[in-house]
Amino acid sequence: MRRASFGPARTALVAAVMALTALLGAPSAAGAFPAYDSGYHSYAEMKREIKAIAAAHPGIVRLFSIGRSYQGRTLWAAKVSDHVDRDQDEPELLFDGGHHAREHISVEMTLRILRWLANGYGHDPAVTRRVNQTETWIVFNLNPDGSQYDHRSGTYRNWRKNRQPTPGSSRIGTDLNRNYGYLWGCCGGSSGDPASETYRGPRKWSAPETRAMRDFVNGRVIDGEQQIVAHVTFHSFGRLVLWPWAHKRAGVANDADRAVFSKLGHAMANRADYRAMQSYELYVTDGDEIDWMYRRHRILSFTIELADRRYPPDELIGRETKRGLLAVRYLMHHAPCPYEVIGRSSLC
Ligand code: CA
Ligand code: CA
Ligand code: ZN
Repeated sequence: MRRASFGPARTALVAAVMALTALLGAPSAAGAFPAYDSGYHSYAEMKREIKAIAAAHPGIVRLFSIGRSYQGRTLWAAKVSDHVDRDQDEPELLFDGGHHAREHISVEMTLRILRWLANGYGHDPAVTRRVNQTETWIVFNLNPDGSQYDHRSGTYRNWRKNRQPTPGSSRIGTDLNRNYGYLWGCCGGSSGDPASETYRGPRKWSAPETRAMRDFVNGRVIDGEQQIVAHVTFHSFGRLVLWPWAHKRAGVANDADRAVFSKLGHAMANRADYRAMQSYELYVTDGDEIDWMYRRHRILSFTIELADRRYPPDELIGRETKRGLLAVRYLMHHAPCPYEVIGRSSLC
């Protein structure tokens, strides 16, 4: 009897300790997210997942690397298209996640896009059309050093930047989305203080992660023509769709482009039930990705701020990435001729 009565009490105690441990955020495995957020993908889990998807869909998914992070992690990317091993003359799209370490849902968003395209191909006619008629590039996590650092201790560290030391300072990390080369540090939309959350780095392109993105996108210029038509960089949070300029109040000078940004941006926001605005209206940013994408390559480049809080619990991954996907579907649909949405197909 003593054993029988001791057993349940001990079981209850163990359960209580485990619940408390989970609440306090014990890591579930080395390098993984806290147990209560195990639905998120660590870098290793992300790698496993994209490899499994690529292995299951070799005809339409090809994995590759755009370079390495400061600490040497592979910056994984995928191409999704029919005839995936050939470059076809089709409109190209680019999606990326993870610029900011703690914005983990942005990485989940890129994984969702990959799953949606791979699993829908041959089953969902709209997805099949998209895969057949476009070439989609996905950079899953541009800042794996930072995201690992943020989540792997068992509690979140609220880390935003990469993990690159700053010369002449004991402070670590550059804000990758202030390190791009167009009008770097121009306009009060970043910081020169290495301690700041928005430290732009000692010079433009000082981070290997932004250089990798730059070199990949520059490499999509074929016969003098940039192949990528539209781009979304995923961040969190705010449930917003944003477009250039980020560094100044005025919109882009080209009338058609300015109208297309607004039209596509508002339409994507409507589908996701988000708000839409020129990036500057939210706050001034310089050295960011979308201004460089548009200025250097005339890519229709958007920032989507996912979710409504900094660390959405993993139970909300499905709901929040679904909203992002509604925006993505709209953009992909119009990639073959974005100017159609302002009634100017002749520009395509
Ligand atoms: Ca959870
Ligand atoms: Ca192509
Ligand atoms: Zn961000």
